Amino acid sequence: MRVLKFGGSSLADVDRFLRAANIIANNAQQEDIAVVLSAPGKTTNKLVAVVETALNGLNPTPQIDELRQSFSQLLEQVQAELPTLSSAAYLEQVEESLSHLTQFVEGIRLLGMCPNNVYARIISKGERISIQLMKAVLEAKGQPASLIDPVKYLIASGDHLEASVDVEKSTINFATQPLESGVVHIMPGFTAGNEQGELVTLGRNGSDYSAAVLAACLRAECCEIWTDVDGVYNCDPRLVEDARLLKCLSYQEAMELSYFGASVLHPKTIAPIAQFHIPCLIKNSFNPQGAGTLIGQDTGEDNLPIKGITTLSDLTMVNVSGPGMKGMVGMASRVFGAMSAAGVSIVLITQSSSEYSISFCIEEADKVKAKRALEDSFELELKDSLLEPVEFISNVAIVTLVGDGMRTSKGVASQFFASLAEVNVNVVAIAQGSSERAISAVIPEDKISEAIKACHENLFNSKHFLDVFVVGVGGVGGELVDQIERQQAKLKDKGIVIRVCGLANSKGLLADPAGLPLEQWRDRMSNVSEKFSVAQLSSIVQRNHIINPVLVDCTSSEDIAAQYADFLSAGFHVVTPNKKANTASMAYYHQLRDVARSSRRKLLYETTVGAGLPVIENLQNLISAGDELERFNGILSGSLSFIFGKLDEGMTLSEATNVAKSNGFTEPDPRDDLSGMDVARKLLILAREAGMSIELEDVIVDQALPPGFDDSGSIDEFMARLPEADAYFSELLNQAREEGKVLRYVGEIADGKCRVKIAAVDGNDPMYKVKDGENALAFYSRYYQPIPLVLRGYGAGTEVTAAGVFSDVMRTLGWKLGV
Ligand code: ADP
Ligand code: ASP
Ligand code: MG
Repeated sequence: MRVLKFGGSSLADVDRFLRAANIIANNAQQEDIAVVLSAPGKTTNKLVAVVETALNGLNPTPQIDELRQSFSQLLEQVQAELPTLSSAAYLEQVEESLSHLTQFVEGIRLLGMCPNNVYARIISKGERISIQLMKAVLEAKGQPASLIDPVKYLIASGDHLEASVDVEKSTINFATQPLESGVVHIMPGFTAGNEQGELVTLGRNGSDYSAAVLAACLRAECCEIWTDVDGVYNCDPRLVEDARLLKCLSYQEAMELSYFGASVLHPKTIAPIAQFHIPCLIKNSFNPQGAGTLIGQDTGEDNLPIKGITTLSDLTMVNVSGPGMKGMVGMASRVFGAMSAAGVSIVLITQSSSEYSISFCIEEADKVKAKRALEDSFELELKDSLLEPVEFISNVAIVTLVGDGMRTSKGVASQFFASLAEVNVNVVAIAQGSSERAISAVIPEDKISEAIKACHENLFNSKHFLDVFVVGVGGVGGELVDQIERQQAKLKDKGIVIRVCGLANSKGLLADPAGLPLEQWRDRMSNVSEKFSVAQLSSIVQRNHIINPVLVDCTSSEDIAAQYADFLSAGFHVVTPNKKANTASMAYYHQLRDVARSSRRKLLYETTVGAGLPVIENLQNLISAGDELERFNGILSGSLSFIFGKLDEGMTLSEATNVAKSNGFTEPDPRDDLSGMDVARKLLILAREAGMSIELEDVIVDQALPPGFDDSGSIDEFMARLPEADAYFSELLNQAREEGKVLRYVGEIADGKCRVKIAAVDGNDPMYKVKDGENALAFYSRYYQPIPLVLRGYGAGTEVTAAGVFSDVMRTLGWKLGV
């Protein structure tokens, strides 16, 4: 004998109902089966709503009419598929149920209350309707079926709304009134009968438990829970898009997972089947061919120390503390006794080792009851200040890791808490089950999604998500988007999902939290109008619980650079080739690093110096390994490298500048290069990286133009006047040549000073051969001297710069990149 249970989600409409019937009929061909059914769809919620309306003194007739309507519609649709179906018993059940309901709600409205025994009878009506329809459907298909009345067979004790079945006593009922063979036995889930023969319910979502006790009473070979997902996943698949289906779970793991929130299974389900070693299979009624998840002996197939991550929400944390707690015998028992007497169930407990406080979580709905009970029980202690006023922290949730293998694997807890910290989740309390099979953290409820996603990414070696917002989509920004588009598929194969969720320019923002389609993005950008702001981008991130947002600033705007601190504290990593932030005041420089550290975000700017060359990271590595920069000199501007290189070949300054400009090697206004300010900023960034505390004004800048040269007017006017500078340069060049030297525009750090200047360098200098737009950087350090560490290569260009920015974007993943 096998027991098959179909949940409300598998009976929600005609299509689903008939699928369930087919599965039942097919299984009945193989062997004897018993079936447990929930109410169709959300019927139970609707019945609860009817009672609420009546309790509020309002008229629930429209809600009852709506239920009647949905039941008759279901019948009509089923009949359209199965014209031979006999509907009499079903119609009778619907009429009887709804007329009872109408009478009950009259009473409830008059009394202003609903006793639990009446409430149980009302909310269990949906299940009765399901079983009548299923019986009729099976019979119409030629499959004999009969009904089991759980009030007669299943003996339960406890509250009318949260009763527990006595399997031993109930087994005797099945032994004395055995079920006929060759017939499908259908039992409504969710209910049982107490010793007085009254109907009781087994707690919301209790049909899983009904199936388990039926399987236990019948000593079934298997208990199958048919639902709307392929089995038990390692996370709620509604919260995590790449949640992984588990092949098998031990009973204990399943118990912990369901207790801590995996709603696919009711927590009470496991005990009865575990007691008789009955395997439980979770299957998808939309995908009957799928293997499902097997609960029973863990075959180790998943090979995972952690099986799942769950969440429980709508909780309140209660802290009972005070000097009177220490050493006082029986304190915990009084606290929990008060809760039990008030009917408040406790979800999780932690105690500080100082015994100064006891903290526990309860359901938010029980808060008022709990408060009253504690204040009554500890009236004297509170009055004498032996206890502090009881603290209630509302809107908390519990995140739990579950897995048998956690007992033997190290580092799980540290990874768990590191993941929570990574997404800025404040841990309110921690508890670990003595079995070491579950470890829980109490966190603010509004952080559930972030917490689950981060834990899932880090603990399951699953996909890593990078959600990029690019501001400034001209040259480098635009190229970056193109490179991302080309690279997306390859990265996906490596488990990294990179999405461009926002594109912004001075005109406006194009955003899609699920990732913008990247084909023809330029065309769509031309229609944007809405201006972007930090607030707007962070609200996209918050609303969609994006855990790895990366802001990429490809503008040269000071205004946007001034907002990096806000972006970092709003949870964005910031990646930028824009030099403005790192060359603003030293105070802002420190502020950015402080915010990045405290919000555990990365600020990466490798491309601010030497474009794609690995400059900053190398320098940081040297410094952090204890090296010290003693002297630096370098060619830091691709355009000036080109122009000064052309002087070697005999071109005049104005000719060389014209060629550079027309090849796009200079800024649109070549004065931005010739002024030396761009080089000054790069030099300042290096100097600060090497530990110098220095401002932009402190950098001595000799421009790449004759002293006092008139650089006013429009670009054209300036270019027309530029030949006047040629004589100055040919003189400098001649002098240099006489000494066997060439002219280079260099940045220099020496003796604690930064200077940008035209220098004549000889053949021994690493800068001597650097031209054609190349950059070269010579670091003379404690370890690298007299021969410096030299980095050399193209230091400008849209492609190399965008590729450098891309690699910074990837580096925001940190250690995850290596997994
Ligand atoms: P039924 O109506 O069949 O009883 P439920 O809605 O009670 O179905 O349970 C199935 C739902 O449980 C799934 O649709 C899924 O969204 C949710 N769920 C939560 N956590 C998990 C998990 N870890 N694995 C699978 N499903 C889960
Ligand atoms: N119908 C009941 C409920 O929704 C029981 C169940 O479906 O498991 O709570
Ligand atoms: Mg369920």
